[in-house]
Amino acid sequence: MAKKKKTKNDKKSPDTFNFQAEVQQLLELMIHSLYSHKEIFLRELISNASDALDRLRFEALTHPELISEEGGLQIRLEADSKERTLTIHDNGIGMNREELIENIGTIAKSGTRELVKKLRSDETRESLGKLIGQFGVGFYSSFMVAERVVLITRRAGEPGAFCWESKGDGTFELSPVERDVAGTSITLYLKGADEGTGLDDFTDEHVITRTVKRYSDFISYPIVLKSAEEDKTLNSMKPIWERPSSEVSDEDYAEFYKHISHDWRDPLEKILQRAEGTIEYRALLFIPEEAPFDLYYVGYEPGLRLYVKHVQIMERSADLLPRYLRFIQGVVDSPDLPLNVSREMLQDDRQIRQIRKGLLKKILDSLRSMSESDEEKYLKFWRHFGKALKEGVADDLENKDKLVELLLFASSNDDEKLASLADYVSRIKEGQEAIYYLSGESRAAIESSPHLEAFRARGIEVLYLTDPVDEMVVQFLTDYKEKKLQSAAKGEVDLGSEAERQEKKKELDSKAKDFAGLMERIQTVLDDRVKEVRLSTRLTDSPACLVGGEEDVSPRLEKLLRQQGDVPTQRRILELNPLHDVVTALKARSDVNEKSESVPEYAELLYGYALLAEGADIPDPAKLASRFAELMRQGLGISGDG
Ligand code: ADP
Ligand code: MG
Repeated sequence: MAKKKKTKNDKKSPDTFNFQAEVQQLLELMIHSLYSHKEIFLRELISNASDALDRLRFEALTHPELISEEGGLQIRLEADSKERTLTIHDNGIGMNREELIENIGTIAKSGTRELVKKLRSDETRESLGKLIGQFGVGFYSSFMVAERVVLITRRAGEPGAFCWESKGDGTFELSPVERDVAGTSITLYLKGADEGTGLDDFTDEHVITRTVKRYSDFISYPIVLKSAEEDKTLNSMKPIWERPSSEVSDEDYAEFYKHISHDWRDPLEKILQRAEGTIEYRALLFIPEEAPFDLYYVGYEPGLRLYVKHVQIMERSADLLPRYLRFIQGVVDSPDLPLNVSREMLQDDRQIRQIRKGLLKKILDSLRSMSESDEEKYLKFWRHFGKALKEGVADDLENKDKLVELLLFASSNDDEKLASLADYVSRIKEGQEAIYYLSGESRAAIESSPHLEAFRARGIEVLYLTDPVDEMVVQFLTDYKEKKLQSAAKGEVDLGSEAERQEKKKELDSKAKDFAGLMERIQTVLDDRVKEVRLSTRLTDSPACLVGGEEDVSPRLEKLLRQQGDVPTQRRILELNPLHDVVTALKARSDVNEKSESVPEYAELLYGYALLAEGADIPDPAKLASRFAELMRQGLGISGDG
């Protein structure tokens, strides 16, 4: 299929390049690897060949002249037991010189980087070996079985072909060669099978056949083994999503998932859908075990593979699912779409919208049943993808009700167990009108907040919102099952029965008269930061706290909004605990001497206290610190207040 024109003896010597440092580390590891499943190199090379064929077929939709060869797109394996070589040919998209340098040798993928990092921290060779299987090592895995790799490739639609060659020893060489057709041929000069390494003989037909069947059966192009007698197609090529799931093993599904996702772990969940009706399609979807590192960044490219009549027409179609489900991987195949469908057409296609609706429903239903039937699995899912679902509550009003059922929150009910809203409502106290929540940086910060005191005293459950997107969620989630969602740090809290509340109000009204003078003086001091001073029903142990008005945005949301633009600072309400001895003593002092210097000073201290207690940022920490120092001085009798 390909021949190399120039050898090292030619006048023009090849260009030599150094591998990027991390790639080189990985290669060294491959070369000395004791990993027992070395046969996965073949899976990786076949997977790449299949990707290359997919890309060619996609480009050929707009440039049909690119596919001219008789015999069709395929992957060919050629073994030579005398020379001890195995060659993997494909007539796919190929690579030009720049692509070759970039893809093989220069770019360390995220998986590579993670692996190398892990290796550095690991001690023994054995554990290194085990790790390989857990990471996506791709092309470089060839060096587990080969002492030399020669790759010849020609980019479809371009004239020149190139030869890449390396022993994995720090450098690779590039030279121009001749090749008649587009595609790539990778020849492995195999290490001896008898070096006591337990290495299988990959020139042996049986070994090759077994490996292809085990790891690459679902590949949709023929994988043909060249043989002296007769060429043999090794894979069944039957699209895995067309086969009844009873016939497909979990391992087969996992191999397929790894091929399409380039993930190296098994998937967490598989979702199979066969839709018939107005539009017919099949979908085989997967939820990964972990979120890719860039899932929550803008640049993340989601997308399902879209097939029409078993032919892949798009590698990543972002139109089949809403953005908040971007973590889903998989394949959708429909006989009802046109083969020449374009990206622009997809965005506004009625049939695509129907598929999208069907997939969405199926996914949300699957998640629901996972949450009901397998708590542990669902928690795993939630840890990685919960944040994405929360985006959905804000973005997808049509499915909000379903999404809301999937949400989990930390809660005062249990130190570890997360609570769904349904859990909360099932435990709600008689007469309790609202679902209470409190947001903060962490569970610990929330738990020490004075806002929780009254709730704790009455044993009322409060949900803890520790994730910044939770602030967005509660903007859109105003009620659940006829219960209002209410921040424990906003408005007045009126817990308890109607009679209790009346009683409390009366008591407070009369107290308010007593405290009016003090409250007015504090208001004057803090007027630029506080819009009201009032007596509190939510405090038991603390002297004061800051709360928002019913309509105010929370301080955390305010902070988030401020990062995005200019937002005026809101003034909050300072609540005083009329039963706290600091407050009563201060009132006494204020009543005796309206001009007492300590009232303004203590107003500042109470304000600072309230900010500290809720874990908020202190606007002027130095000033507050010097107030503390003064307080200590007084406490130690160094100086006193007159
Ligand atoms: P991955 O497949 O996860 O991207 P690999 O290490 O397996 O990582 O391959 C690196 C890159 O090299 C591929 O992304 C592709 O661009 C290129 N490549 C590898 N094999 C081939 C091939 N047979 N034909 C064309 N390009 C290839
Ligand atoms: Mg690959």
